[in-house]
Amino acid sequence: MSRSADFLLDLIFPNTCPFCGCFIRWNEYCCAECAGSLERADFCIRCGSAKCCCETSERDFAACAAARPYVGKVRRGILELKYHNGFNAAKYLVPEVVKKLDSAGLVTRGCVVTAVPMTEKRRRTTGYNQAEVIARLLAKQTGLKTDFGLLKKLADSPAQHELSAVERAEAASKAYFKGRDSLGIAGKTVILCDDIITTGSTLNSCAKVLREMGAEKVVCAVLASTVIEKEE
Ligand SMILES: [Zn+2]
Ligand SMILES: [Zn+2]
Repeated sequence: MSRSADFLLDLIFPNTCPFCGCFIRWNEYCCAECAGSLERADFCIRCGSAKCCCETSERDFAACAAARPYVGKVRRGILELKYHNGFNAAKYLVPEVVKKLDSAGLVTRGCVVTAVPMTEKRRRTTGYNQAEVIARLLAKQTGLKTDFGLLKKLADSPAQHELSAVERAEAASKAYFKGRDSLGIAGKTVILCDDIITTGSTLNSCAKVLREMGAEKVVCAVLASTVIEKEE
């Protein structure tokens, strides 16, 4: 959305910080307090996890850049992505993801940006796909092309959050399939965007499909990574 539209919208729906809900200026994405206190963590650039699992699991994506841990204020902000003001969370965190991708040398000319798809039915209910919102912002900042037709999601796949890790991997492997490859991704790097990475099974099955379509490498870009609680 353009800045002037943001300004006009603010007159009707006052702009709020996605991470705490306080009012902020129409041209801000985050309040000053949250900007200084948002949760942070270090993640493995290969698996995207705070507790690296590269040794124990094979992945179809080459890297995963995550901005923040999926806890507290960050979690609230990402849940807000369901509403208009939640776009602020994406606008605030996408530059952090781009910075991580950049410093790992993962953004190169010719990369194609895409997003984890949702079913048409779900899209009609929510009005938009939050992963696509993230991908559009990322593409705008990096000057890369987008293609949202690459992947499709099966209509009746179960919601991932209701399943165990094993069930997730199983369900995800059947849920995504090849769409239309309009730009020609053969031999290219595809940047695959989503809001969060949990077990990685969704990103992994999407990456698998993209690799089967000829992508040389799939790099994931997510706003947050789920932090597995330490076992007592
Ligand atoms: Zn705030
Ligand atoms: Zn790792």
